[in-house]
Amino acid sequence: MHERVYKNPELLRQHWRKGTLTYLLALVIIAVLALLSHYLVQSIVDEQEATARVVNLAGRQRMLSQRITLFASELRDAGASQLREPLAAAYYDAISTMSTMHYALMNGSSSLNIPTPTSAHIKQIFNQPPVNLHQKVTEFLVIADEVVDTSLTPAQRDAAYAQLKQSARADMLNSLDTLVFQFQHESEAAIKQLQRYNRFSLGGMLVTLFLEAFFIFRPLLLSLYRREKQYHQLLLEMDEEIAEQIQYQTFYDPLTKLPNRLSLLEKIQSHIEIAQQNQTQVIVISIGLDRFKDVNDSLGHDQGDVFLVDLAERLTDIATRHRGIVARVAGDEFAIVLEQNDEKLELVQLMRLLSQSISRPFEQENILLQVTASLGLAFYADDGADAHSLLMHANQAMRNAKDEGGNCFRFFQSAMTSKMTRRITLEQELRQALNSEGQLMLFYQPKVALQTGEIIGVEALIRWNHPEEGMLSPAEFVPIAEDSGLIVELGDWVLVQALWQLREWQKEDIYIEMAINVSVKQLMRRNICDRISALAEQMDIEPRYIQIEITESNIMDNMNHIMTQLVDIEKRGFALAIDDFGTGHSSLARLRDLPFKVLKIDRSFVMNALKEAKDQQLVAAIVDIGHSLNKTVIAEGIETVEQQQLLQSLGCEEGQGYLYARPRPAKQVTSMLLQRQLELTPNQLGT
Ligand code: C2E
Ligand code: MG
Ligand code: MG
Repeated sequence: MHERVYKNPELLRQHWRKGTLTYLLALVIIAVLALLSHYLVQSIVDEQEATARVVNLAGRQRMLSQRITLFASELRDAGASQLREPLAAAYYDAISTMSTMHYALMNGSSSLNIPTPTSAHIKQIFNQPPVNLHQKVTEFLVIADEVVDTSLTPAQRDAAYAQLKQSARADMLNSLDTLVFQFQHESEAAIKQLQRYNRFSLGGMLVTLFLEAFFIFRPLLLSLYRREKQYHQLLLEMDEEIAEQIQYQTFYDPLTKLPNRLSLLEKIQSHIEIAQQNQTQVIVISIGLDRFKDVNDSLGHDQGDVFLVDLAERLTDIATRHRGIVARVAGDEFAIVLEQNDEKLELVQLMRLLSQSISRPFEQENILLQVTASLGLAFYADDGADAHSLLMHANQAMRNAKDEGGNCFRFFQSAMTSKMTRRITLEQELRQALNSEGQLMLFYQPKVALQTGEIIGVEALIRWNHPEEGMLSPAEFVPIAEDSGLIVELGDWVLVQALWQLREWQKEDIYIEMAINVSVKQLMRRNICDRISALAEQMDIEPRYIQIEITESNIMDNMNHIMTQLVDIEKRGFALAIDDFGTGHSSLARLRDLPFKVLKIDRSFVMNALKEAKDQQLVAAIVDIGHSLNKTVIAEGIETVEQQQLLQSLGCEEGQGYLYARPRPAKQVTSMLLQRQLELTPNQLGT
């Protein structure tokens, strides 16, 4: 219902439209009633005016009858004197006026503004006995003529005069009075009628207004009021819902419904406060899933989410048994906070329990999934005085466990903190080194054809001549550059330097292949193909002289994101080499789909190949795999002639290692390249 009004403003509009229409209707009804009332009043007022004129005229008739009688008496007394003439004129004039007025009264006169009588009573007064005014006036006027008719005898005229007097005094007056009374009577009736109409019109207007107000406006206003209230209520509910959601999302993880990092920090802090009072310890366990990215990449994020929800339940189950709280602090990281109470907590046992519970196979829709985790522990107050540092240190311990291969747990050791500080310092110094001359440089290590000992290429390897610490190994600072993102800038510097050197050599007629190490982070952050192509074009270097080395584990962890770039590298004519092969976790299927030219066997296998039969078999297998996929196989880290001979016998085509040459500055490599053939003894060449 709420939703209907909220979502359909058309309903509200209809209400307003209905209300406006009924209001207009009421106005029309009232206007009609007012007009009707006005016309009625006006017609009755007109009638009243006409009645007043008629009554006035009747009064004048009465006076005229008296005057005619008076003139008749004076005419009789005047005899034949000279007074007779004007008197007779006035007499006849009075008679004529009376006659005119009489006909005007009887039939109406537009010149005198006298209406034609319509009432039956008035007509009766004029035409029928006992009044018959018309007959009486006619008789009166005939007698008036007889009074002055000299053809009659004086006695006849006297008799006529007596009759005229009598008629003027009684008949005429009575008849005219009857007429006036009748008009007055009708006038009163009309006024009464008018009052009735007036009352009726007023009543009609009031009833209309009442009906409108009660049956239309009231329900309409009530309904609008109700809807308005519902609408407000709905907005309030929505506000509350949103506020609740925000509150929830601030403190909880929407997927697993576990407290989030913020919430966990609060809980650790309150545990610390209790521990301070009770002189107890607080334990923070950081749990990081090993290679969870693989689960997401291979099974999809939905399955990954289902697994995380299941895992959250498992962890909650164990944590609540130990009165602990579980939180999800990052995508694949959980944490548990526990208060160590009197019954001594068997921590090692708890860690094992957690590890076992996490690595218990997870089955869903015919998929069997097994994930391990690295765990790190930090204690209050030994490893941190507040929630932030405790969680951070537990996290460092967990990362340490991960670095050591995962699926194990580590306690926080403060040495780790100094390792972190060193990382941060090195990162800042590396940033400066990138912008200053001479600290960074490239060394080049030759690669040889095992059969002939001929140098077929070089690998560019970065070196950092640290102002205080001297030459630093890339194994130390490249991972820092990768973590901080500096690798993009650093890698670009390497590209420019290496290609510039290649160009320099080509100027001296030395045409060899240059292998350049590229981090996957570089591929993820920018389009490396475009950049290399542009540089190569700028320096006039053919793509076939450029080989890009990417470590196996790096490729496999991010294959979905970088595949198009890898394909592009091959398409543009550059060669792609999988570096440190054997340390990653390539599947044959994935390897088959990868567009690469060279497989570089990791140094660790070469190193152990002569010591361990298994490693020798492994190297043999890698060479076979490479060949079956039609790839060139190169072994790195060849230090002894025995290693070289073994690899040669296994069919490995190329080699790289201290046996031939250590990585050196360009100048030193140039003379070797001009010679091309390494000065190796026939024994070294295995012949
Ligand atoms: P990598 O690409 O596998 O390079 C081979 C490493 O093995 C080099 O170490 C090289 O000096 C070393 N090596 C070669 N032959 C032998 C040998 O016979 N015995 C022994 N013990 N070592 C040998 P380096 O120069 O310290 O580089 C270490 C790693 O740092 C490289 O491994 C590569 O992954 C990375 N790296 C070096 N330069 C760059 C660079 O410019 N960019 C990137 N992204 N990574 C680089
Ligand atoms: Mg390499
Ligand atoms: Mg390598």
